[in-house]
Parts: sequence; C-alpha cells; structure tokens
Amino acid sequence: MVFSSGFSRATRARAKAVSQAAPVAGTRAHEARRELLERIGDFVARHDLDVTAANMAAICGALSGSSPELASALVQREAAGEPIDQRWLDTVARLDPDGHNRIAALETLSDKLEYALTRFAETAREAQSETSGHRGAIGEQIETLAGPDGLAHVIELSRAMLARIEQVEAAMARSEVEIDRLRENLAQARSEADVDHLTRLPNRRAFERQLVTAAIEARASAKPLSIAFCDVDNFKQVNDRHGHAAGDRVLCALAASFREMAGDSCFTARHGGEEFVLLFYGLDKEAAKGRLDAIRRAQAARMLMNRDTGQPFGKITFSGGVAEVGPDADTRGALGRADAALYRAKQLGRNRVELG
Ligand code: GH3
Ligand code: MG
Ligand code: MG
Repeated sequence: MVFSSGFSRATRARAKAVSQAAPVAGTRAHEARRELLERIGDFVARHDLDVTAANMAAICGALSGSSPELASALVQREAAGEPIDQRWLDTVARLDPDGHNRIAALETLSDKLEYALTRFAETAREAQSETSGHRGAIGEQIETLAGPDGLAHVIELSRAMLARIEQVEAAMARSEVEIDRLRENLAQARSEADVDHLTRLPNRRAFERQLVTAAIEARASAKPLSIAFCDVDNFKQVNDRHGHAAGDRVLCALAASFREMAGDSCFTARHGGEEFVLLFYGLDKEAAKGRLDAIRRAQAARMLMNRDTGQPFGKITFSGGVAEVGPDADTRGALGRADAALYRAKQLGRNRVELG
C-alpha cells in the first residue's frame, strides 16, 4: 500500500513536521490534514468498514488523490449505488507496484518541504516579535535618555538588535535556499513519477489520471472521448531473436512513432510491457479507429534495423482495440471494451484494429 515502504522515514518526517508545526494550527496544510482525516473517518463509518492499516492506506490514497485509479473506481461505485464493502475494496485496492516507491519518495519530499516552510514561517515570526521587543525597549530608553547611562543603554540595545537582525537574515536566506532546492526536487520527482523510464512516455499512472480528467471534461462539454489499447504483435520473437536490449530499443522506436503520429489531440502512454494506450480527445470510436488504423498502416510500412548487427527486425506491427467512453463517463467499462476489442484483433490475425 502507499505507506508500507518508506513508512518509518515518511512517518518520522511527518511526526517531526507535525510537532514543529504545532504553533501554526489553523494554517492551510493543517486544515487540509484535519479535513482529510475527517473524510476518511466519515467514509469508514458510512460504509461500515474495519479500521485496518490496509483499509486506511487505501482510503487515504483514494481520498487524498494520491491514487487516482482507486479514486475513480470509488466515485463510479458510489454513483452506481453499489456497495463499497470489504470484498470490493480488497479487489480494487491493488496499487501499481512500480509507482509505489516513487509515491513514498514524493510524500517524504512533501513532508520535508512542509517542514522547511514551517521553519521559515517560525523564523520570520520570531524575528518580528524580537524586533518589536527591541523597539519597545529602545523606546523606553529614549524616554529616559536624559537620565544617567541612558544613551549608553540605547547604543547597547541597538547593537544587540542589529546583531540579531543579521543572524535572522542569514537564517532566512538559508531557509529560502533550502526551500527552493526542495521545491525543485519535488517538481522533478512529481514529473518523474508519471514518466515511463524506458520510453519517456507518460506511464500507466499518468494515463489513469488523464483518463479520469478527460472523461469528466468530455462529459461536461458533451464531446466524445475514445480509448485505444495497442499491443505489439509477436514481440516475444523480437526479444528471442535479437535480445532484450534490442527489444528495448524497438519499444523506444515504437513509442516515438506513436507520439509523432498520434499528434497533439491525443494522449499517448506506455501502459506496460509492449502495450501502449492512446486517448483520442473529441473523437468518437469510428473516427478514433480511423486514426489508429492510419498509424498502424504507417508503422507496418516502416523497416526497423538492429543497429548492433545491421539486421532488419522485420515488420513490427501492432494490434489495436478501440472503445468510446460513454456519456456516463464509465472509464472502467470503456477500458474493458477496448481490451476485449484488442483481444479480438489478436484472434482475427493481428496487425488490425477492432472496435469495442
Ligand atoms: P502477441 O502478438 O500475442 O501480443 O504476442 P507477444 O509475443 O507480443 O506477446 P507475449 O505476451 O507472449 O509476449 C510479450 C513479450 O514482451 C514478453 C516480454 O518479455 C516482452 N516485454 C515486455 N516488456 C518488455 C520490455 O520492457 N522490454 C523488452 N525487451 N521486452 C519486454
Ligand atoms: Mg501484451
Ligand atoms: Mg504482444
């Protein structure tokens, strides 16, 4: 589950951040945490679920948005009025094992950033209260300047105040540098968590999130949205004949072809293995099938060479299954239909596209 790996690190960092953040109750982060906890509690009570670590992690993942796949499954289940019971939760709460570590790393980075921001705010607050304290003391001394040692006291206090201001300025500059560094790391880790390492295409996690967003937008604007699953034909033979590294290069070449040929109005991702998935915005399933068929024909006409041996890889083709997300925005149903259509395309001889 989301927290199982990196649990102790993330939890320690969070506990530290929480204890440091205690004086800033009422801040947005604090309120968001409290609200998330309340929503998790309501959810557990509403569906009469047990308070187990696995349930908490799954529900937290869905309600916080860190597990978009699960979030979308929950929304659809609730909308359909079907029960969210233990058996169903166990079935859907299997999370992407690869994304898992990256999510834990993201949480740790977020915690560090939150902690650094809290420290920064505290330093600023301390500086403000110290300078106003000094100002008050100097004001009193000025009143009694005429008395013995009055001027000497004011000078002493002013020196102390200057020295403290310099210290605080240096601490704030250090905090700012640290915050900038953490922000950069966080932005990079966020985008890396959505990218497939081999092909640099968006990965399945990114696709799942994009699908939910696109389905909501398509419903709101009453525009069609289609999904296409594409699976490379007989890819095992490429590996067997040319080796795994050459197989990897073929996958990268295919990814580049998909990206290039699919164009801007299409979201292309690697779904896993030798399988790609495309989201056609604004296209119904017939139009999407036409576009995918054109890509398929162009790919089948390409000749890829193994640059290590100079041998051709032969014709690298793929089969596709296309389905449309209906007005009910049932993305799971559309994924199922696209998958079944892909299976049919394989059965019917490969290197073809079928409609679901
Ligand atoms: P089909 O036309 O029925 O899809 O046949 P296939 O050989 O493509 O399908 P199969 O599922 O039998 O084999 C898929 C192969 O893809 C097996 C697996 O080793 C290979 N594969 C999956 N991911 C990768 C990868 O990242 N790199 C390489 N080189 N091979 C991969
Ligand atoms: Mg496959
Ligand atoms: Mg295959």
